[in-house]
Amino acid sequence: MTKKHNFNPGPAVMPPFTVEKTIEALKDYGGTGLSIIELSHRSNEFKDIMAETQALFTELLEIPEGYSVLFLGGGASTQFFMIPYNLMKNKAAYLNTGSWATKAIKEAKFFGEVIEVASSADRDFSYIPKDYEVPADADYFHITTNNTIKGTAIFEDYDVDVPLVADMSSDIFGRRLDVSKYGIIYGGNQKNVGPAGATFVIVKEDILGKVDREIPTMIDYRTHISKDSMYNTPPVVNVFSALQTLKWFKSLGGVPELEKMNIKKAELLYNEVDRNKLFVGPAVKEDRSRMNVCFILEDEYKHLESEFLEFAAQKGMVGVKGHRSVGGFRASIYNALPIESVQALVDCMQEFEAQH
Ligand SMILES: *Cc1c(COP(=O)(O)O)cnc(C)c1O
Repeated sequence: MTKKHNFNPGPAVMPPFTVEKTIEALKDYGGTGLSIIELSHRSNEFKDIMAETQALFTELLEIPEGYSVLFLGGGASTQFFMIPYNLMKNKAAYLNTGSWATKAIKEAKFFGEVIEVASSADRDFSYIPKDYEVPADADYFHITTNNTIKGTAIFEDYDVDVPLVADMSSDIFGRRLDVSKYGIIYGGNQKNVGPAGATFVIVKEDILGKVDREIPTMIDYRTHISKDSMYNTPPVVNVFSALQTLKWFKSLGGVPELEKMNIKKAELLYNEVDRNKLFVGPAVKEDRSRMNVCFILEDEYKHLESEFLEFAAQKGMVGVKGHRSVGGFRASIYNALPIESVQALVDCMQEFEAQH
């Protein structure tokens, strides 16, 4: 099988180790004579998988005491309302840095007042706003650390006086983090962790239980915390596959090593975007994402868009098309994407330039 260079935004490139181990487990999980999809989630085998996955998440991200790691269904999009359901008494603060943040804001409005502390919509979400105040009486402050569609990112762990809630769907494990600065970190697994279907939620226990409203059982984080993320049937295979990715991360040297690799990959690609006469990167340089590299054609070359996509496809590149709302190109270069794939894209851009 010839592998493609997979720049898909999500579901996305996975480590070959994760794919191989999942195939083995689908056939026979650990010599049990059962496929992983036949295994009871109440079996000791699965309890061990869940416990190991939570432990490795905790180890790799250096999650301090007082936090729980959950794997839930519903995608990151379900967290958009689960967070205000559990945390919002009267009002919450949101930083609007793109489409995902906008969607999170929309859901929060069902539960109370939303203060949009700042927005980069004025310049098409090409930057991260820096000058704003978070109201001291907000119940929490929500940010999106990596804006998957416009290719901007926050590389700092903000200091705020209210619980900080972060959507890290597209950059978890991408950089070193100080988890103690956050109340909740969440995201869909399908970009940097495993197959679609499991949502990771790292939640600080002492921020819960402060709202007056009644919370349906499945929406209440405390339900899942008290049952080790196995109150109902968890996404069994997805958790197993995520564990394989975490093992692979650890074998590489963990998050500090991943961060170094990501910086290298991003520099390689942005240097080419900046050098190549055909392309330009719309995101402000200091806020450029290391996970989703967005670029467009210079005005005089705009007519070459579909030609470049075709050219890239012929060279084995998948997923280089920009988000349907943006156009242009986007290369998602998540943790599992090898630098060789980035180099292949750079070569492709140079060849294409030489032809025009
Ligand atoms: C992909 C993505 C989501 C949506 O995730 P689902 O699991 O599909 O709900 C939310 N936020 C960000 C930043 C994303 O990249």
